[in-house]
Amino acid sequence: MAKPITYCTRCVMPETKPDLFIDSQGVCNACRSFESRAEVDWDVRRSELEAILERYRSRDGSSYDCVVPVSGGKDSTYQVLRLLELGANPLCVTATTDSLSDIGRRNIENLKRRGVDYVEVTTNPVVRRRVNRLALTQVGDISWPEHVAIFTIPIRIAVQFGVPLVVWGENSQHEYGGPAGAAESNTLTRRWLEEFGGLLGLRVSDLAGREGIERRHLIQYTYPTDEDLARVGVTGLFLGYYLPWDGYGNALYAQAHGMETYHKPVEGSIVNYENLDNHQTGIHDYFKFLKYGFGRATDLACLHVRRGRISREDAVRLVKEHDGRFPWEYLGRGLEDILAEIDMTLEEFVRVCDRFTNKRLFRTDARGELIRDAHGNLTRLNDDNVAAPSEDEARLELSTDAA
Ligand SMILES: [Zn+2]
Repeated sequence: MAKPITYCTRCVMPETKPDLFIDSQGVCNACRSFESRAEVDWDVRRSELEAILERYRSRDGSSYDCVVPVSGGKDSTYQVLRLLELGANPLCVTATTDSLSDIGRRNIENLKRRGVDYVEVTTNPVVRRRVNRLALTQVGDISWPEHVAIFTIPIRIAVQFGVPLVVWGENSQHEYGGPAGAAESNTLTRRWLEEFGGLLGLRVSDLAGREGIERRHLIQYTYPTDEDLARVGVTGLFLGYYLPWDGYGNALYAQAHGMETYHKPVEGSIVNYENLDNHQTGIHDYFKFLKYGFGRATDLACLHVRRGRISREDAVRLVKEHDGRFPWEYLGRGLEDILAEIDMTLEEFVRVCDRFTNKRLFRTDARGELIRDAHGNLTRLNDDNVAAPSEDEARLELSTDAA
């Protein structure tokens, strides 16, 4: 008999999330960290932010005050709006997504119209498709090249334009302000970025020599050298450390400034205001579900439960209904079309899914094979905490075993 999945008793995150810790009271570290935000003096943090922006401001207006990585989504639109309100002159930089949607493109154009200079870097799409395929089959993450490029490209631009300060959005991993706010080291090191990036053990240098990929195809996926970073003094900060950060609030603010949302909750999610710019995201989220037993619906339900916008009971219900659905389509494009771009058939995709599925988290039949419904969906062992068996039940189980 498989061991049931334990969930945080305050939100709905399962213990299987990497780096999640559930304490003796049944509460996860993300909920604890959210709790501690109540003690933050946001006025002090805002003054700190203003002081940092002042320190890095281009005095004579001959250069930009900061580089801002943007996608046109809710958070980056909010970042840009806030920086403009604070009087900064940002250079906005987009690393084009793996498979840009129409709504994603419109939101980029909307962001530009807020009144900013803007650079978009698109990596060779022929090579990108090969890397998507390689990363999906090797480490079960189709979005691996995107995760690399959204970090390397803004830093390369910062070096190229000689702009030291890079303003990121939120750091979900650590509750700190980033190197620009640190007392001692305020240089953004390669190591700091590599730790932050979450590259699943696959290195960019591993790609050269495979599938016709050469070193010259990987320039934009490579961090600038330590010498270049030091020469410009590249450093970074997370705006989410300095300003109260709420994805839903950011979405409302961005929407009031022209950002478009989807006409229904995004497939596999419970909201319509995020992850609108890449058709491959549905596959990315599905693999997270196969590996760890939770997907995007769980992430979002947790954020809303912590902020008191939905009850935990409703969150459990919404997650059960929406999380980890087989990704037949994303942002209206069919799975087979999305797969054709990376030269993969549906049958091949299903085989790759199976290889990365943690079978201890899902229902299986007597032969240990995964059970799927008519739509190809798996069922998690349990969607909420299972009560420990009472003494009577335990005794009954023992006597059945004995028989
Ligand atoms: Zn929690």
